[in-house]
Amino acid sequence: MKKIFFTVGPSEIYPTLSKHIQKALQEQIPSLSHRGAEFKELFKEVTENLRKLMGIPKEYEIFFVASALEGMERTVQSLVEKESFHIVTGSFGKAWEKIAVQLGKKTTNLVTKDGEGFDVSKLKIPKSAELICLTQNDTSTGMQIPMPEIYYIKDQNPEKLIAIDVVSSVPYVEIDFKKIDVTFFSVQKGFGLPAGLGVIIVSPEALKKGEKVKGKGGSIGSFHSFLNLSEKAREFQTPETPNVLNIYLFNSVLKDMLKTGIGKIRKETDQKAKLLYDFFTKHQEYNPFVKYQPIRSQATLVIDVNGKSKAIREKTAKAGILIGAGYGSYKENHLRIANFPAHSLKQVKELIKLLK
Ligand SMILES: *Cc1c(COP(=O)(O)O)cnc(C)c1O
Repeated sequence: MKKIFFTVGPSEIYPTLSKHIQKALQEQIPSLSHRGAEFKELFKEVTENLRKLMGIPKEYEIFFVASALEGMERTVQSLVEKESFHIVTGSFGKAWEKIAVQLGKKTTNLVTKDGEGFDVSKLKIPKSAELICLTQNDTSTGMQIPMPEIYYIKDQNPEKLIAIDVVSSVPYVEIDFKKIDVTFFSVQKGFGLPAGLGVIIVSPEALKKGEKVKGKGGSIGSFHSFLNLSEKAREFQTPETPNVLNIYLFNSVLKDMLKTGIGKIRKETDQKAKLLYDFFTKHQEYNPFVKYQPIRSQATLVIDVNGKSKAIREKTAKAGILIGAGYGSYKENHLRIANFPAHSLKQVKELIKLLK
């Protein structure tokens, strides 16, 4: 039986992926030299298509790494001399701060109660913090930070750099890159691709800061420091032998998404999220974990099912529909349901029917 993956990542693959994988093999993509002209052409194309889809300004650079966790580490390593500030709205934000500590940085934070927001106007960030790190959409709690609030934080702290993790909200989330210094994600969630590829989008100011940190004699890492990645990206290359196959597949899915149109993708995401949230809100026993609507994630829904998580997941699995368990200690109390572009309205309706 063919399954439908509503798990939050890896998740359902993009519907055209199998066709693209076959084409990649026909074109012998896995044997391509990453120093050759064809790879450079691919690098050029994939970054141009990503710029088009997400509205990334041309002066911003795009790097390929192995994962989103690597994005967290490289951002801190390249941009923080001494101190970073972290807004922790779930386990991924917590993991990011831990990485900073492991790299020997001083950190301060704001930790929200799980599933609850915070008042940006009361946010106090130490003067000494150089970088502000936020998880725009925390997949563990299903809480999102609205982008206007993130821009407000940047406006209040113009001398600091700001970095966002959008792993589970791309390509749905709309970003004004001019107000953000670093944006990163991996491709196994919203893009419906195999895992093992991360993307980092970096502002000119962030690169300047990288030079400054390096100039002070601190280590900014080696082959995957922002400066090294930038040097190679300018030649349409990567420092190491990259995941060429996945970069090729990413380009293919980007082309499909451009054909569909980002507006339509966002609209459909909203429609599917509304169906799901309406269903759970009306349900006698189940409830969205995040109570305040503006901070509820449209892309990764977390539902409190009152200890019935396992029973529900077993029931839907029998019908070939897989949903995620709660994160960590919420394993038994929560369901996590992905609502990515790869999930069709029909599949969402099927899931709801099954849950009734
Ligand atoms: C999945 C996820 C990550 C980790 O992604 P990897 O590709 O496994 O490194 C980081 N942040 C968020 C918000 C995620 O959902």
